[in-house]
Amino acid sequence: MKGHWIDNQWVDDDPEDFIEVCNPATEEILERVPAGSEANAHRAVESAKAAFDGWRKTPAIERAALLHEATAKMRANWSELVELLTLEEGKPVPENEEELEWVAGTFDYYAELGRHYRGRVLPSPEPENQLNLVLKEPYGVVGCIVPWNYPLLLLSWKMAPALAAGNTVVIKPSEMTPLSTLFLAEKCFDHLPPGVVNVVTGYGAPVGEALVSHPDVPVIAFTGSLQTGQRISQLAAPLIKHLHLELGGKDAFVIGPDIEIEPSAKALAYSALLNCGQVCTSTERVYVAENVSKDFTDALVEQVNNLRLGPGIESTTDVGPMIGEKFRAKFETHIQEAQSQGAQVLTGGRRPPEFERGFFYEPTVLTDVDHSMLIMSEETFGPAIPLMTYKTFDEAIQLVNDTQNGLGAVLRSNDARLIKTFFEEVRAGTIWINDPLTDNFAGPFGGMRMSGNARELGQEGLDSFLETKHVHWDFSPEAKDWWYPY
Ligand code: NAD
Repeated sequence: MKGHWIDNQWVDDDPEDFIEVCNPATEEILERVPAGSEANAHRAVESAKAAFDGWRKTPAIERAALLHEATAKMRANWSELVELLTLEEGKPVPENEEELEWVAGTFDYYAELGRHYRGRVLPSPEPENQLNLVLKEPYGVVGCIVPWNYPLLLLSWKMAPALAAGNTVVIKPSEMTPLSTLFLAEKCFDHLPPGVVNVVTGYGAPVGEALVSHPDVPVIAFTGSLQTGQRISQLAAPLIKHLHLELGGKDAFVIGPDIEIEPSAKALAYSALLNCGQVCTSTERVYVAENVSKDFTDALVEQVNNLRLGPGIESTTDVGPMIGEKFRAKFETHIQEAQSQGAQVLTGGRRPPEFERGFFYEPTVLTDVDHSMLIMSEETFGPAIPLMTYKTFDEAIQLVNDTQNGLGAVLRSNDARLIKTFFEEVRAGTIWINDPLTDNFAGPFGGMRMSGNARELGQEGLDSFLETKHVHWDFSPEAKDWWYPY
């Protein structure tokens, strides 16, 4: 056991309380980490606070060089990082390779963006003797609270812009996937000044809550469930914190009336089953045009039946396990509730009997579902593809928007009128036409409505970690006409 990573060293590496980190494919214990306390979180905040002044005054070009050095270290430790991610999170190796490419790319992107942006100059009321500046300044200590489904990617979308902007960070990884984060901090960020990057392991309460309630942590950058986002909002309200919230989704996928069947079935299977359906933007509801419904459903079932289930570490695996028993049991409830109300399972619908251990569940295609069922209304976060048919495109749009969420939405079509209607009428932070779940370093990602209030990536992702200050500077010695006395 290594302890917490604070001030570039291991702290509390022999605690009384610890968490056993489990491999979801085998249920074996991989490692133990401290179940941190409020005191551990406070100690990390003190370190981050002490490091802030030096880091914010470090020239941005030097900060950029240090962040590029971190990505070089990631590349030097590539295979170990990929293996750790695979063992603790469960998804297949190619998906973890991709996750790590995103992490390295995000640090490189923000290293550059951070060194060319400081604010702007405004036209002044008296241009000859005045200067008006809009300064963009780091906040201080940023608390990064991260879920388990993309432990490093979702961390990098917070940590890279926060550091590039001159903030310091205290990271609280998920209690289920802390190992890759600890490895990253130790092996790839140890050249930054002590206190700039700190990691405290443990549960949401007390560690996460200690960060949220700490007066010296002005920003909480959180990705996770709606329920935790609501709890964080309550705790942070009295302190008027800057909250950056990326919450759950219930993303829809619309199959247009003009589609090509085979590629569309492949696109949907990928969009719904990537990371075993445990992506915040996983397709969770599908609306299929009536005229293609029969052929499309057959092609989809065939596609899903060809996928190979197994441990992520095996090269033959397409779909890995779910993260844990609690999540699989909730998923199963959604499937069973739908079946009890008349849904038909076309394939899947059970724990695969060939695996005695591991949190596997067969990818499951359902029809005869409607919005009264949990599987179409609550976040399911597992390998389910529930299909409904629609008659008119207006009906499809209405169904897509019939949710409190608004993270992403996908359309397969090449009809320009349908595409324009879709991206104008659907209320979601990301719209994918034909190519689901493809992100872009420069393209802001985040949710509308109850899917959150933040944007990560792009210029917007840097702005989230910069505070705005207006400077009005007059350098003439004379008194103004409008000053007292009148
Ligand atoms: P979660 O909310 O249970 O946990 C997320 C993190 O918050 C963990 O580190 C956890 O320990 C911490 N936490 C829990 N309770 C806390 C509290 N009271 N105070 C402070 N921190 C607390 O979510 P999860 O199960 O880890 O992740 C899955 C959820 O994340 C899904 O709802 C998914 O949609 C969402 N998600 C959203 C995005 C996005 O970008 N919008 C991306 C990935 C995942």
